[in-house]
Amino acid sequence: PLHVVWLRHDLRYHDNQALYAASLAAQADNGRVVAVFIATAQSWQQHDMAPIRQDLLRRRVVALTTELSTLNIPLWAVEGTDYQHCVTVFQQLLSMGMVALYAQQEYELREARRDSAVTQLLSQFNCPVHWFDRLCVMPPGSVLTQQGDIYKVFTPFKRNWLAALAAKGVQCFPKPLAQQGEPIQPPDWPAMQPGDDSSIAWSVTEHDVLNKMRAFCQSKVHDYANDRDLPAIEGTSSLSAYLAIGVISAQQCVARLQLEANNALAVEKSGASVWLSELIWREFYKHILVAFPKLIKHHAFQADTDKIVWPNAPTLFEAWCKGETGYPIVDAAMRQLNNTGWMHNRLRMITASFLVKDLHIDWRWGERYFMSKLIDGDFAANNGGWQWAASTGTDAAPYFRIFNPVTQSERFDAKGDFIRRYIPALATKTAKEIHWPHKPITPRGYHAPVVDHNNARKVTLALFTAVKGK
Ligand code: FAD
Repeated sequence: PLHVVWLRHDLRYHDNQALYAASLAAQADNGRVVAVFIATAQSWQQHDMAPIRQDLLRRRVVALTTELSTLNIPLWAVEGTDYQHCVTVFQQLLSMGMVALYAQQEYELREARRDSAVTQLLSQFNCPVHWFDRLCVMPPGSVLTQQGDIYKVFTPFKRNWLAALAAKGVQCFPKPLAQQGEPIQPPDWPAMQPGDDSSIAWSVTEHDVLNKMRAFCQSKVHDYANDRDLPAIEGTSSLSAYLAIGVISAQQCVARLQLEANNALAVEKSGASVWLSELIWREFYKHILVAFPKLIKHHAFQADTDKIVWPNAPTLFEAWCKGETGYPIVDAAMRQLNNTGWMHNRLRMITASFLVKDLHIDWRWGERYFMSKLIDGDFAANNGGWQWAASTGTDAAPYFRIFNPVTQSERFDAKGDFIRRYIPALATKTAKEIHWPHKPITPRGYHAPVVDHNNARKVTLALFTAVKGK
């Protein structure tokens, strides 16, 4: 009997409940565990998944294959086409003696459809499917108001989430049991193709990623409350890409944080408690996504803001994408994204706000562009972040709160070190000049400002007041 684990965004063997449960079941009925990964490049493209994120997935699957082989668990990685292809893969596995499927649930619409098609197929053959809800420490639907409603505001959600943590604690699962037996041959299907190595700067072994997380919880986390807003330094954990594809789980992060910094967690605004808050934001947006499927269909959370008629000037959008707006902090940030596939959180907030409130471009254009470039692209976090910045989301920044990109730059990149790293044309500017280098004239090799912030601000207020409450 084959117990099949379908790996998707849980590409790890520690704290993987699906793998662990399958290994127990296989031991009980003298069966075998086989893990399967299905690369679906066409569906990934439909989701605008960045090439660097696709590469990270492929590289991680290769590394996990080696890691699981030490437990004699095969990982069969298939080159599929799109989500519909998954049904074919399971038809083949059924013919090989598959007796049960184990997988971690996913929340997005197309993924849910894919999973129900597979469940339907397997039910025709009386093959049970075991779904595990482990993308969050507190699964969606488990943190509710006293009236049983979903929280639409973060602070009370967080309070209740923390109460649940105090009551239930956090559970991590051991690695799956090692198994005995001769190698089993996979069906005759196309093996997963290698990636393009664009993510090579990111290690993909579970060992390295766990060490990175542990090291962060031991030391850097203590300065996180101060350092997290400074893009010139590495003050954050840089774990988002790994959390997004499940090389580590949020449960492992929380458990390690409690182990290393439990005293600090009791102190409000300590680095440890601020970092925990960020992990809770991750869950907040996932809970919201599950409760309001309209978000997946690209609607604004605040319905009235969907009525805004965005001017959407293509040349301004292009300047923003390329990092050529004439606003140094915005341009340096966009170049960081384009060059590395990652952008610092403070800069995501600044560039998102700039696109919407200075360039008057629909936030969905920016959301899509981010997704097509980010190594950590995650629908819930990206949509949540964009709708926050655009003042269209749940618990979003109020629409009249408009970041001034120059002031933000002076505050969070005071010496200009981050800007200098990405804009060589400004390398010789002093800390004072660099945030607004256009006086008396724009330096050679740099770009004149594409808009005037004060005028743009007034237009934004008019765009919002025209629809608010309507
Ligand atoms: P740390 O500061 O170390 O935080 C730890 C973890 O908490 C992160 O790895 C991430 O999983 C989670 N987290 C932190 N901040 C947030 C947040 N505001 N919302 C949700 N989760 C958070 N994050 C993504 O993972 N994928 C995205 O596609 C994404 N798009 C974003 C778009 C915009 C416009 C904005 C404003 C934010 C976006 N974020 C996204 C959230 C945040 O910017 C990144 O998670 C963070 O910068 C990743 O760096 P880190 O791992 O060093 O984070």
